[in-house]
Amino acid sequence: MNASDSPTDRSLPILQPFQPQPGHAVKPPVDPATLIHRQLRGGDFWREIPAYKDVDEATFLDHRWQSKHSITRPDKLLHTIRELASPEFIADAEAGFHRAPMSVRLSPYIVALIDWQNPYADPLRRQFVPLGSRLLPDHPKLDLDSLHEQADSPTPGLTHRYPDKALFLTLDTCPVYCRYCTRSYAVGVDTDEVHKVSLKAKVDRWENIFAYVASRPELEDIVISGGDAYNLRAEQITLIGERLLGIPHIRRMRFASKGPAVMPQKILSDDEWLRALVGVVAHGRKLHKDVALHTHFNHPNEITEISQRAMNRLVEHGVHVRNQSVLLRGVNDTVESMGLLVKRMSYINVHGYYVYQHDLVKGVEDLRTTIATSVELEKQVRGMTAGYNSPLFIVDAPGGGGKRDVHSFEHYNPITGVSVYRSPNVKRDAFYCYFDPIDLLPEEGRARWADPSQHDAIVDEAIEAARGRQR
Ligand SMILES: *Cc1c(COP(=O)(O)O)cnc(C)c1O
Ligand code: SF4
Repeated sequence: MNASDSPTDRSLPILQPFQPQPGHAVKPPVDPATLIHRQLRGGDFWREIPAYKDVDEATFLDHRWQSKHSITRPDKLLHTIRELASPEFIADAEAGFHRAPMSVRLSPYIVALIDWQNPYADPLRRQFVPLGSRLLPDHPKLDLDSLHEQADSPTPGLTHRYPDKALFLTLDTCPVYCRYCTRSYAVGVDTDEVHKVSLKAKVDRWENIFAYVASRPELEDIVISGGDAYNLRAEQITLIGERLLGIPHIRRMRFASKGPAVMPQKILSDDEWLRALVGVVAHGRKLHKDVALHTHFNHPNEITEISQRAMNRLVEHGVHVRNQSVLLRGVNDTVESMGLLVKRMSYINVHGYYVYQHDLVKGVEDLRTTIATSVELEKQVRGMTAGYNSPLFIVDAPGGGGKRDVHSFEHYNPITGVSVYRSPNVKRDAFYCYFDPIDLLPEEGRARWADPSQHDAIVDEAIEAARGRQR
């Protein structure tokens, strides 16, 4: 395998000009603007960043260079962009980092894709660089492990919530750190705000997970997540993959990694890692088991010619890629941005699988949006492209309810922002509430949340309304 393997060109047969047929309908020609999903950023765009102006293509495409030059300290980032961004922005980012619960890590690839002349509006900046001026108070119903992953955990790093599938947290590091991370209770290093639960990449811990999985015949499907599977070494990918493939009742596996979205260079230049992944996929195929890669693109600007080359390489090796986005305010919460993301992913063979309603996570209220927004986006996006590339918009119900179609609420009050879901496969009779961010509620809703003595009543009345619908 090498980075330059490309499909052979085949010349196309010569076609006759199209003849309009009487009595048949021909659509009007399309506006070329509807095809911009095919225009991927190419060339040496990174040279616009002063710190990377002398970096040639071979170096920029080397995953070791990307890792080594990833920015892990706020002052380092602020130093890299100081000639590009205004002093006001730099001060604002300094204040933001100081109050953030997540660690900092950005790949040069992401740094180069951010428009630092316009950093307030930039959809990638919003995901990775917190700003003091934009932070909002947390929702009063928020807690750090909002999904109760630890409550459904029989052994450290395994969450067994659903009947036939489980979530395996293999390690606690990632190639980048996202502000909105749901696992900020574990992922990354301790910050000023949060002491983390430890989930290191340790074979002893994994052995107990393999033993548990083997002891539960109902399990067929394992999500191998983290942190991020990109940070597993090649031999760890092989070990985990082979041990799980060896358990007869395991039929499906997915390696979860944000890597393709934030450092596609690894797929192009880390041949050992790719060989390990492809090896597990190929062995799974021989055993008639499905092994896929799940990734995490959030915005069309993350998809460049480099991403396309990386995805081409995966396609050539028979690795299927599905995508799980997070719905983020100011990033992908419009029909234009979400529609373009879905079309562009389809174009590079990435299947849109899920768009998650943002979980209730500390310190990122400015990135959350409402259930109503998600419902409307789903309506507008479905039908733009193939159904199997059209993501399902879901909410992972706080309190351990699991994933629910956003449309499936029993009750939703857009004034208080409370939606109520049921999850019969998790707990037959329980009700689970999701809370829209307070700053997006109408005046009446904001006033009620401003009074703490109202909080229980707001929740009780929503659950009562949901219960009423059951009768
Ligand atoms: C998301 C998740 C899964 C996988 O669910 P799918 O809907 O099949 O993608 C499994 N276990 C847990 C705990 C999860 O959060
Ligand atoms: S890559 Fe995933 S696990 Fe890691 S910080 Fe981002 S969202 Fe969290």
